[in-house]
Amino acid sequence: MSKVMWDIVVPVKLPPDLKGVKPGELPGHLLRPARGEGGKPCGQLHWLAAAAWAAMCEAAEKDGITLKPVSSGDTYRTIKMQLTAFLSRYQKEPIPGAQTRTYEGVKWYKKSPKLASLAAPGTSQHNLGIAVDVHTAGEAKRLTWLVANVRRFGFSWEVVPEEPWHLRFTEGVDVPADVKTYMEKNGIQVPSPSPVNLNVASPIAAAKKDGTKELQEALKSKGFYNGEVDGAASAALDEAVKAFKVANKLKGDAIVGPKVKELLGLK
Ligand SMILES: [Zn+2]
Repeated sequence: MSKVMWDIVVPVKLPPDLKGVKPGELPGHLLRPARGEGGKPCGQLHWLAAAAWAAMCEAAEKDGITLKPVSSGDTYRTIKMQLTAFLSRYQKEPIPGAQTRTYEGVKWYKKSPKLASLAAPGTSQHNLGIAVDVHTAGEAKRLTWLVANVRRFGFSWEVVPEEPWHLRFTEGVDVPADVKTYMEKNGIQVPSPSPVNLNVASPIAAAKKDGTKELQEALKSKGFYNGEVDGAASAALDEAVKAFKVANKLKGDAIVGPKVKELLGLK
């Protein structure tokens, strides 16, 4: 293996919201369009990787370098996409000397040495939405720029020296400053699983929203609560609410509704 200038391989620190998510089955709210040519969308990436990728594309553009994915299929890949590509390149019938992959407990053989290698379905970082294959990444000017800048945006290579195009976002925990700056500038925030609906929040969350401290104080003054007045939700506070409601002939749950507030003299 020859030493190459882009021998920058950093271990992946996954974004916390990818923990427990099955590769190739990312929930929609975690995905965002990946930036393609001229800022047009091209495929999808995990939202944080998408922001880091867009930030890097923008910086490259300022230096006269165009960055774009090879194709929309070279960003996030669903399990189905990965499987289709895998079946087109690998077969179960043995080929002497061929590169192999293990998939579903069996050895698969690459159909031709001319084909690019591909990870087995579920094992590719494309399945996590953190990898993007860069169009003509090996072109000298582009590669030089990438070598100098990928780390600023939390990217590094994975397969060296075979895949100069394959970059993946490694800084899912400590997001690099240049990515944060881009996110602030573009108002990019941590996505929620569904539209935020404060009305269906838990009783505790609802109380918190309306002032847990005041609730604690009021219950304390009426002798139902003897914990800390610290604004923190707790089981003891829930119990106090229940006891107060029962004492006032209300349903014995921990929900702080308008009637409870009225009785406690809360807003
Ligand atoms: Zn790739």
